[in-house]
Amino acid sequence: MIKAILFDLDGTLYKSETIRKKFAEAAYTTIAKLKNISLEKAQKLIEERREELQKKSGSAVPYTLTLLSFGVPIEEWHRENIAFFDPRDYLTEDQKLRETLIHIKKQYRLAILTNNNTIQAERILEALNLKGIFDRVFTYNTFNLLKPDPVFFKKAAEELDVETNECLVVGDRYAIDLTPAKELGMQIHEVTGPEDIHTMRSGLDS
Ligand SMILES: [Mg+2]
Repeated sequence: MIKAILFDLDGTLYKSETIRKKFAEAAYTTIAKLKNISLEKAQKLIEERREELQKKSGSAVPYTLTLLSFGVPIEEWHRENIAFFDPRDYLTEDQKLRETLIHIKKQYRLAILTNNNTIQAERILEALNLKGIFDRVFTYNTFNLLKPDPVFFKKAAEELDVETNECLVVGDRYAIDLTPAKELGMQIHEVTGPEDIHTMRSGLDS
């Protein structure tokens, strides 16, 4: 029986090409500063690495994990992206998603499980008007862990006081959000964006 639902944040509860671009630009800036190279060179370096990693893993690799492959300390990356852009400037309330989540919340404990940092995650939830909906918001900063590390999923379940097989994990990146969850015996639901969460709601209701 499902007792808790853990949602990925970026690409799952909102989809924004502008934010995706801001993330990319923040990543280029981070590498340009670190290696003391031009932004253009940094962009080339990062996008080439992303392609390599994608070939190896078979799916698109987020900027956070790409930067880690260059040895960028995660705290430094988070500091850069927090300073680089404020998601509240680009995102607006999603009334329909809010209603769906409030409906689901009547039956399940809800949490966020994101590789983003706490500051950006809170800004995004504020912009989407979803603050206060989630029982817990687990970010990289909560345990200093990143998906796909299964320990991140396990610790989140522990904190929610549920067994792993009582969790449903919802995310847009199969290898990062869902494979580790599946291996822990969690239920999984793949989405391509917030629209798919409404469909999921009907599944839960039936
Ligand atoms: Mg995502």
